[in-house]
Amino acid sequence: MHAARLHEYTDDMSEALTIEDVDRPTPTASDGVVVDIAGAGWCQTDNHVVEGMWEEYVPQDLPMTLGHENAGHVAEVGEEVTVVEEGDPVICHPVMTCGTCRPCRLGEDMYCENVAFPGLTHDGGFAESLLTNERAVIPLPEGTDPTDIAPHADAGITAYHAVKKAVAELNPGDTAVVVGVGGLGHIGLQCLDAMSAATVVALDPKEAARDLASDLGAHHTVDPSSEDVAAVVNDLTDDRGAKQVVDFVGADETTALGPDVLASGGDHHVVGYGGHVHEPAQTLVDGEFAYRGTLVGRYTELQELVALVDRGDVELRTTRYDLEDINTVAEKLEHGDIEGRAVLTP
Ligand SMILES: [Zn+2]
Ligand SMILES: [Zn+2]
Repeated sequence: MHAARLHEYTDDMSEALTIEDVDRPTPTASDGVVVDIAGAGWCQTDNHVVEGMWEEYVPQDLPMTLGHENAGHVAEVGEEVTVVEEGDPVICHPVMTCGTCRPCRLGEDMYCENVAFPGLTHDGGFAESLLTNERAVIPLPEGTDPTDIAPHADAGITAYHAVKKAVAELNPGDTAVVVGVGGLGHIGLQCLDAMSAATVVALDPKEAARDLASDLGAHHTVDPSSEDVAAVVNDLTDDRGAKQVVDFVGADETTALGPDVLASGGDHHVVGYGGHVHEPAQTLVDGEFAYRGTLVGRYTELQELVALVDRGDVELRTTRYDLEDINTVAEKLEHGDIEGRAVLTP
């Protein structure tokens, strides 16, 4: 089968991955599930994996097939699998978990002590078929197209997980700030709108992104390249500040916004990454601010997101590409030229 594989870390996205023929996976364990990929989302994390940014965080053995936002149809199952059968449309939670370690028993899939992460530590879904396991697959409701929903496997669940934490702190009348209305931000914005009665302010320097934010339910939009974000937020909140910031960019300039726009006790959720947090400890003490990281989400949260999608509360803007065009997609995302989410269709 065809697969898009990383042979060497590089900053040159035009030669990021190589399309080659590899063996089709089989369910090697009794809980194994092979999924024929209908769609696999390209993610900023793929660019970061290509650049070698994940090498010191997770074990990686090159060459490796990338792709961690996967959905498709079950092709083959191990002998003990009961949750799905051949032909079922599924979305794949990004990690294969063991189910028996303490984090697994607490439902914290991402903290599993025996985790495997297709696309980061094992072969992923930029291929005709993917090997995952029973604990990762979520059957899709009737009428849900696996190609369209694929990016929710990581982009969606990550946005949802951050927003769910923010929503727990948001009361009606509070204000939430969404930073960046790209692949994740446009999903997070809709989750916020569906799950809270907060006033939502969306920041993005791109006019098209601000228009998208308004379409998707943002109450106010701000251009941080020409407007004073703190002044706008203070104006909108009678100088109280926002209760929650959900930062889908995670650059130095955006992480610096927290203390300027947050009300005392507020949280700045860091979802995107690449930059640093540079704040004096005293600033955090004075305002009781917290920076909170976000890593994907729980299996049950992906089920919840699928339910929101099924209700029509969250729509995903996607563009489809052939697997052969994968390096073009990598380059386009590197230059910010992809609206919503790119989905490869092997
Ligand atoms: Zn991703
Ligand atoms: Zn585990």
